[in-house]
Formats: sequence, C-alpha cells, structure tokens
Amino acid sequence: MNLIIFGPPGAGKGTQSDFIVKKFNLFQISTGKILREEIKNKTVLGQKISLLMSSGSLVNDKIVNELIRNIVTNEKYANRFILDGYPRNLNQVNSLDLLLKSCNQKIDIVLKLSVSLETIKKRISERRTLEKRPDDNEEIAIKRYQTYEKTTEPVIEHYKKLNLLKVVDGERSIEQINKEISDLIDLI
Ligand code: AMP
Repeated sequence: MNLIIFGPPGAGKGTQSDFIVKKFNLFQISTGKILREEIKNKTVLGQKISLLMSSGSLVNDKIVNELIRNIVTNEKYANRFILDGYPRNLNQVNSLDLLLKSCNQKIDIVLKLSVSLETIKKRISERRTLEKRPDDNEEIAIKRYQTYEKTTEPVIEHYKKLNLLKVVDGERSIEQINKEISDLIDLI
C-alpha cells in the first residue's frame, strides 16, 4: 500500500503520518524533513537550498524528484510508503506517475487534511516556541499557506479525478482524525 497525505503547513500532516506509519507498518517519506536534514548537516545540497527554504519558497523540482526516485526505487520502501509534502505541483505529479509506473507501483489513497488559515496561524505560533523552526513565523506561514493553496490545488484535482482523494476535516482533535484516517485506510 502506498499513500499520499496533503495539507497546508501546520495542518498536522507530520503527526498523522507518524500515526499511520506505526499503525500500518509503513515508511514515512517527508521531503520537508529530508531537506531540513540536508541543511542541518550542511551538505552541498543543504547549503544550496537553505535560503530558499527559510523564505518559504519551494525547492527546485529536479532536486526533489531525484530525492524521491532514490527512495521509491529502493526495495525496502517499495509499496510501503506514505508521501508527506510531495508531490507539490503538476510537474512533480507527472514525475511521480512515471516513476511509479516504471517500478510497477501505484498510489492507493490520497488523504487531504483540510484546515483554515486562522487555525494554521495559531498552530504555527505554538510550534515555533516548541521546535524553533526558522521558517515558522506568521508572515512566512501565510506565504507558505498561499503557496500551498496555489500550487497544490491542481495536484489535488488530479487525484480527485482518479477517485483516490479523501478529504479529512483537520480542525478536530488528533485522536478523531487518527480514527477517521484509520477507517479510510481499512476500507482499501
Ligand atoms: P514541509 O515540511 O513539507 O512544509 O516543507 C518545508 C519546505 O521544504 C517547503 O517550504 C519547501 O521549501 C521545501 N519542500 C518540501 N517538499 C517540497 C517539494 N515537494 N517541492 C519543493 N519544495 C519542497
């Protein structure tokens, strides 16, 4: 089983992915997390993307597509992953479609956590005190939300047309969301 989870930054994608990974024995592939590690470890890639990421802009498709290719083609992850933060635009969708076809895999369900900008702002300000992420401040949060809305909408439409999309109300408690997601996955 392969999944994708969508939601604006601060929607709880990370928390929900952690839950799904444990419950269904999958691997989480979070492009944001992988890229942040690159920056933390001061790799060549990390230095290249650090300014871009701290301003809330997206990283070059080619870089992200290549990261995903390396993971999805690894036997260990095949048919056992949940994508978080990828694909973010139609170019990435096409790249993923081709990649999955080439290794006989497919996406089984696409979850969208739906959350308002007001809730995101509140959560981001709470998270900033806890995690100290450099891209977490209100102005950047709004920019990331708008970038998300603008670039991800056509991506979500793509999966809707394929009848893979399930929209989950992300305004509720973590446990309620866990339960709904779990029930949806059990139906696959
Ligand atoms: P996230 O943790 O998913 O909100 O991602 C944090 C940041 O990482 C984003 O604002 C982008 O700069 C970068 N990033 C993560 N995933 C992608 C992606 N699929 N394409 C381009 N940039 C990405």
